[in-house]
Amino acid sequence: MSDTRDDVHEIVIVGSGVAGLSAAVYAARADLEPLVLEGPEPGGQLTLTTEVENYLGFPEGVGGMELIQQGKAQASRFGAEFTHGTVEGTDLEERPFELELSTGDTVRTRSLIVATGASARWVGAENEDELMGYGLSTCATCDGAFHRGDDVLVIGGGDSAMEEALFLAKFADSVTVVHRRDELRASDIMSRRALEHDSIEFRWNTELLEIHGSQETGVTGATLVSHPDGHPTAKLDEDVTHEDVEVGGVFYGVGHVPNTNFLEATSVDLDDEGYLVTRDGMTTETAVEGVFGAGDVMDPDYRQAITAAGTGSMAALDAEDWLETTDPVIEPVTPMANSSD
Ligand code: NAP
Repeated sequence: MSDTRDDVHEIVIVGSGVAGLSAAVYAARADLEPLVLEGPEPGGQLTLTTEVENYLGFPEGVGGMELIQQGKAQASRFGAEFTHGTVEGTDLEERPFELELSTGDTVRTRSLIVATGASARWVGAENEDELMGYGLSTCATCDGAFHRGDDVLVIGGGDSAMEEALFLAKFADSVTVVHRRDELRASDIMSRRALEHDSIEFRWNTELLEIHGSQETGVTGATLVSHPDGHPTAKLDEDVTHEDVEVGGVFYGVGHVPNTNFLEATSVDLDDEGYLVTRDGMTTETAVEGVFGAGDVMDPDYRQAITAAGTGSMAALDAEDWLETTDPVIEPVTPMANSSD
């Protein structure tokens, strides 16, 4: 990247998922020449999805990767610039804001859109650190093809777990969904598809305690625990049932955690789960003027591709408006009072 410490961007967008790309299209069309920082998962969660069936305008569905590639081409067409680099240090106390990247570059900007999304959650089973990537995965579309003819477990009861199970059923001999309660959280349509599938079984009120295997052998099995009232790992001192099963793969589909570590030392508000807090009302403004949030990083509730695209466009419009009405060089950095305070 050619940035020097004297270059100051009007707007930098951290994250290149659907929210970041949507913000980039809007900011680029407003001639703000946005710089988009592509972090450790360029393109975000949609690149790990197969078919997106509920994004408006695609009656036959659209591939997640295709949607992202088209969005990037669209933003580039209007002048958005893309560069790789994870934000490792953030100074939002002075203007212009400064971001230290993993590449060693420093990026300076008058306004900032945080669209860093969320990453797959791990369940905390024994051996998961050692076996992640060795038969344990958070992405069936990435790793499913390695499990032809295997018996595999999918952990979770939401749409992600159902999607993983349905995808894995194309390759695996058998797929067992392990869910900690006796009721799925997934949408009716996804639940029905998985429940009616011949190769998918369900283990209710059951959790994964330990994964067996090594980096040499890969995953060879797992210890499951169950309790008739659910949430068995919280009841290990009660009468839970332990069972060892032989499986060749374990897939986590237990939701996501927002990527906001790089904001922890700043005045941007985060909630208890780490989600970026925006001001009340229809806005993407954060507690620091000139910093805006978009997509899953600020949305613990909806978390859809289309809502992420929507908040991305809102963040760019909010940033454009703020840049037009404020002199970001002389405006002091004072955290704004949240209207909910
Ligand atoms: P989610 O809806 O939060 O579901 C997470 C699931 O994992 C829940 O069933 C939860 O159990 C379980 N879980 C969480 N932590 C666990 C732990 N430590 N151990 C065992 N189980 C645990 O997350 P998601 O499935 O990733 O979906 C997120 C959003 O994306 C949703 O809005 C969903 O509709 C959307 N999405 C849509 C599609 C689609 O339409 N094709 C695909 C994927 C995602 P409890 O139910 O007991 O809490």
